[in-house]
Parts: sequence; C-alpha cells; structure tokens
Amino acid sequence: MPPSRFVDPFGRFLDYVRISITDRCPFRCRYCYPHEPFSFIPHERILRYEDILYLLSLFPSWGIRKVRITGGEPLVRKGVLPFLVKAAALFPSLYMTTNGYFLKESAPTLKEASLKGVNVSLDTLDGTSFCKLTGVDGLERVLSGIDTSLSLGIPLKINAVAMRETLDQIFPLLSFAAARGVTLRFIEQMPISSDPGDSFLSQEEVQERIRTRFSLEPLPLEDSASPASLFRIPETGQTVGFISALSHPFCHRCSKVRITSDGKIRSCLSSENELSLLEALRERDPTSLEKIFNDSLKQKGLKHCFQSFHHHRGRTMGQVGG
Ligand code: SAM
Ligand code: SF4
Repeated sequence: MPPSRFVDPFGRFLDYVRISITDRCPFRCRYCYPHEPFSFIPHERILRYEDILYLLSLFPSWGIRKVRITGGEPLVRKGVLPFLVKAAALFPSLYMTTNGYFLKESAPTLKEASLKGVNVSLDTLDGTSFCKLTGVDGLERVLSGIDTSLSLGIPLKINAVAMRETLDQIFPLLSFAAARGVTLRFIEQMPISSDPGDSFLSQEEVQERIRTRFSLEPLPLEDSASPASLFRIPETGQTVGFISALSHPFCHRCSKVRITSDGKIRSCLSSENELSLLEALRERDPTSLEKIFNDSLKQKGLKHCFQSFHHHRGRTMGQVGG
C-alpha cells in the first residue's frame, strides 16, 4: 500500500477513517445519547451505501489502511449486512463497532465478510444495571452475540466505558473477558453530549481497583496509532487496555478522521469543524474529495479541547460516530 497522501500541520499522517452509517440506535446510553431534544438526520441526507462503497474504493490508493464502520448502531441500518460484505471485499481492512444487540443474527454474515475485527461495547454484566444504563433489557442478547461471534472465530474486543456506578463491574468484566481470551478495554468518559460529573472514573482509579487483586505489566502499543495503552495481567494471562482521552491523551499519535452519517468529515472528535463530502461523493469526483480530506486535516488541532469546554453541546458521540 502506498504511504498516506494526507498529512496534517503537525506531521501526523492520516491512515484510519471511521465511518458512521447511521445516527440511530435502539439504546439510550446515558453518556452518549443526547439529553436535550434533538431529531434524527432525515433518511434522504444519510450517506447511501453506494457513496460509502465509492469512497472505500479510493482509500487504498490514498494510503488509508484501516476503516471502522460505526454509528449510532450500525447493525440497525436496513441492508447493512450485504453492505458489509461488499465493503469488506473492496476494502479488506474493515472493522466495526457495535452495541452487540443484533450481533447473534449478524455474526454468520460478518464471518462470511471476513471483517478484520468487531468491537463490542459492554459496560456491565449485571442485567439491572445494563437496563438502567442503556434503557434496554438486552444484556442476554449482547452476551449471546459475543459468544456466537467467538464460536465462529470472529476477532473481537470488548470496550467498557468506565463509570463510578459500574466500579463493581471491573472484576466481573475482567473474568468474562479472560474466560473467552478477549481483550477488554476501559474507556474514559468524554464530555460529549453531557457532563460525566461524578460518574467519571479515571484510568488511575480503574487500575488502582485492578491492582487490589492483580498486577499490571505494561505492553507495547498494538500499533503506533492505537488509542489504547495495553497491559498484561500475569495472574490471568489476559490483556487489558485503557483508552483515556482525558487523563492520557493520545492526540500526538492520532491518525484518524471521522465521517458522519450525513457525509461530513471531522478531523477531531472534540471539534465542531466539519466539511461536507456529500456533493463531491455524489458526483464521484475524486479530486474534490481528496481536497476536502486535505482541507479537513488542516483544521485538525494538535490536541483535543475536552478540557477547555465543560460541556460539549454539539453533536453527540452517536451522531458523530464514536
Ligand atoms: N453503537 C455502537 C456501540 O455502542 O458500540 C457504536 C457507536 S458508539 C458511539 C461507539 C463507542 O463510543 C462505544 O464504545 C461507546 O461506549 C463509546 N462512547 C459513546 N459516548 C461516549 C462518551 N461520552 N465517552 C466515551 N465513550 C463513549
Ligand atoms: Fe447507541 Fe452506541 Fe450510543 Fe449506546 S454508545 S446510545 S449503543 S450509539
């Protein structure tokens, strides 16, 4: 693959694109879902699958080496499974992030598509707290989605947003992941759509809790652009990761941009700066698309600005494509 065509003003090369295919989701995770009145993007403004496939066809020659399909909840969008099969055939380094609610029935097609990896979000193994946090009584469905995927050999990771109210879930989640040989990563809550307030749990606090039973041995990064710092727990042999944008920012190695479900490119999660790709995409105009990617990268700051805003009121994580 050629080196990336795109470099930002601080010398970071772009090689990873996250594409949100919908802003809709059956869950109402309290750290993600808007707390204020909002409306979903109308269907006619959502990127068509053909538009996304066209973009994916350009990526290899641009030096993009990884794409993640996300949302909202990607598996709720009509036609998503045939789309994923086509997308992975065009761009083999394709990943997806899901809440797992529709994973069991989707897993055979994901296997057929040979997705490179699926991240499943799971913050708690307690059915009552799952229902309270997501608004849906869906824990059993998510767990069977995980186990079906693993039984089919789909590479999978579990991501858990760390919250004070689920502090008691750290060890159950670790045991669940260890029993399945799956990497578990704790994500620090970011102040998008709402202020985490007292619910915020830092990497240090999670690690402190883990160290009451286990040791944590630092591991090298999975790849130079990965947001997760990794540790091995020698007592269980498992790998645990921490994605800690607030306490351990990883902006200096950020090589990604996000594309929202209505076709806007955003070079930093914390910034409201977006440029529309829609027209150039619908016109199948690679030169304009390349220029818009370049222009977007010029807007990429050196560091995120979560600290300087107490409360981000723009689009939520589910709308941008977390
Ligand atoms: N619906 C899918 C899911 O939940 O995995 C994909 C989209 S979701 C926006 C992507 C990831 O963003 C999830 O792992 C979710 O936990 C995380 N997320 C959402 N809001 C967040 C926040 N305020 N801080 C940190 N992570 C957040
Ligand atoms: Fe939906 Fe994912 Fe947001 Fe939860 S984190 S509300 S599952 S998009």
